Amino acid sequence: MDKHLGFIGLGNMGLPMASRLADAGYRLTVFDLRREALDALRAKGAQSAASPAEVASAAATVLLSLPTPAIVRDVALGANGVGAGKSIKTMIDLSTTGSTVAREVAAALAERGITAVDAPVSGGVSGAIKGTLAVMVACPRPLFADLEPMLKHIGKVFFIGERPGMGQTMKLANNLLSATALAATSEAIVFGVKSGLDPATMVDVINAGSGRNSASQDKFPRSILPRTFDFGFTTGLMYKDLKLCLAEAEAAGVPMWIAAAVRQLWFQAHEEIGADKDFTTIVQMLERWAGVEVKGSAR
Ligand code: NAD
Repeated sequence: MDKHLGFIGLGNMGLPMASRLADAGYRLTVFDLRREALDALRAKGAQSAASPAEVASAAATVLLSLPTPAIVRDVALGANGVGAGKSIKTMIDLSTTGSTVAREVAAALAERGITAVDAPVSGGVSGAIKGTLAVMVACPRPLFADLEPMLKHIGKVFFIGERPGMGQTMKLANNLLSATALAATSEAIVFGVKSGLDPATMVDVINAGSGRNSASQDKFPRSILPRTFDFGFTTGLMYKDLKLCLAEAEAAGVPMWIAAAVRQLWFQAHEEIGADKDFTTIVQMLERWAGVEVKGSAR
């Protein structure tokens, strides 16, 4: 495939993913609403464009890493959107949007001769920096073969299926588990601390035992015990993913009891702590309720 790519949305995830592609020798044309994000990539030789349409007039393959389904829909289909570009053949959405918007965008772009690929990612900012993300791709098989060598620069690439939105369904299932692990581990550790246990010892024991999970292995040692709360994903985005998951499960006729309770807890964190805060701050809400602080050094 062409070594020229477009990249729109250079935030916590987009910037490191685009940087890896630039380092791998891809020529990039990029767009973001934030000037400082553009400057960071221009330093790596990328060209900046004035709109999504301009990116899609420069490159045949355009990647997106944007916050919400509404923004993805607008950037893809709006007046100055990717769909108005003159060169674009393939749009790859790395954002988490849910399958409904992925299908809607894919159908609208197909009318313009553009193939939409959903390729949401998991593994956080550190995975984006190291190129170890899980990349969940839904697109026609022959196109997957074409895109896989490029996507390998950002992580481990999985073919989920041919139907638009299948990658998104996979991602929502994954993030339900990630949200549940962080919420439940926060409850467990706050309970222990209130009862006099040392949180760092608790994390060590859990990681050597059957309670081990992505929050105990990664989020607690890295961002909660040292109280840096800098994991790189916001509570607003986590809550968005849970809302999407429950809405799509309901539409599919799948009752979700645990997910409903987890969403409620994240809604509370969203209101009490704030949508823009790092999602590891959810523990602070439980700390306040219990009147304790989870603090210590990871071993
Ligand atoms: P972010 O808010 O850090 O980055 C989003 C970027 O998009 C920002 O730079 C913003 O300026 C830009 N943007 C917003 N509206 C725009 C528009 N209309 N045109 C152009 N640029 C625009 O978000 P993030 O954490 O990088 O997440 C991006 C997506 O990836 C989300 O869908 C999120 O759910 C998903 N995701 C995030 C993580 C994570 O750990 N942060 C992990 C996996 C998936």
